Amino acid sequence: MTKLLTGKEPAQAIKDEVAERITALGKRVGLATVLVGDDPASEVYVRMKHKAAAKVGMYTYDHKLPADTPQEEVEDLVRSLNADPSVDGILVQLPLPDGLNPDTVIDCIDPGKDADGLHPHSLGLVVLERTGGAIPATPQGIMKMLNFYEVETEGKVAVVIGRSRLVGRPMGLLLNHKSGANSTVIFAHSRTRDLPSITAMADILIVAAGRPGLVEAEGVKPGAVVIDVGINRVDDKLVGDVDFDSISEVASAITPVPGGVGPMTIASLLLNTVALAEARAEAG
Ligand code: NAP
Repeated sequence: MTKLLTGKEPAQAIKDEVAERITALGKRVGLATVLVGDDPASEVYVRMKHKAAAKVGMYTYDHKLPADTPQEEVEDLVRSLNADPSVDGILVQLPLPDGLNPDTVIDCIDPGKDADGLHPHSLGLVVLERTGGAIPATPQGIMKMLNFYEVETEGKVAVVIGRSRLVGRPMGLLLNHKSGANSTVIFAHSRTRDLPSITAMADILIVAAGRPGLVEAEGVKPGAVVIDVGINRVDDKLVGDVDFDSISEVASAITPVPGGVGPMTIASLLLNTVALAEARAEAG
């Protein structure tokens, strides 16, 4: 019988911790979001983040810019949030509209306010296994989920499909950490040959490609733990990247979409923000 790894319970545990830490800090904690354009999915994600932040007692600042905003103006907004003492965390919702370079926008975020953990400084600390920076929210949420459900990672083969800055690459690095998960990690991507033979090696399979139906039961090792990060809209329904029904017959555990990784991403964003606020308070 496959175990369903839902995000609700572990996300709530993180949010309870965040609320307690905000109370203990005794000061306002502020999260600013920057949404450029009117992508409906991005609008929903930003709304959900604001709602979750408000529930744990954070102040939120909602910045919306039209899709044709020049690069310089988006970057100026980020720099003004860097300078704003009421803002502890900044999140730039990705993807940005065509024509805007996300790298240079993210480079503008003060690493001390990098709520999503995507600044090169934050990612560099993940590469080096050093603490003190924000950990990318989605991979961090997945690590916390594995921990919550007591999924053994040490010495296990973990296959990560995807190598993006947002999910795949930091995910593989976290699973590889010597001071942490200690998995044997394989990155698969769009040039990987014979993907099913690679994924079938996985004790832990993380799929973050944005391709519905990419992984089917034949590519899953019996007893594997399958984490489906993908969010795709198909026939007006949200689905992940894996064929949930057939894989449920083979895997020992699987995340649902929606209701799996998504809530963990939001909870980790809040956790990063309170940790950044604590660090700023400590630095005076
Ligand atoms: P991305 O930047 O488009 O990266 C996709 C990755 O998948 C790339 O590395 C790409 O390979 C690889 N890929 C694409 N097609 C493939 C194929 N046919 N076979 C093997 N690999 C393939 O996407 P992302 O930002 O990482 O997001 C991935 C998915 O996760 C999306 O559905 C997104 O909506 C979802 N997501 C969910 C959450 C959440 O909280 N649940 C958070 C963030 C993202 P190349 O590098 O070779 O191009």
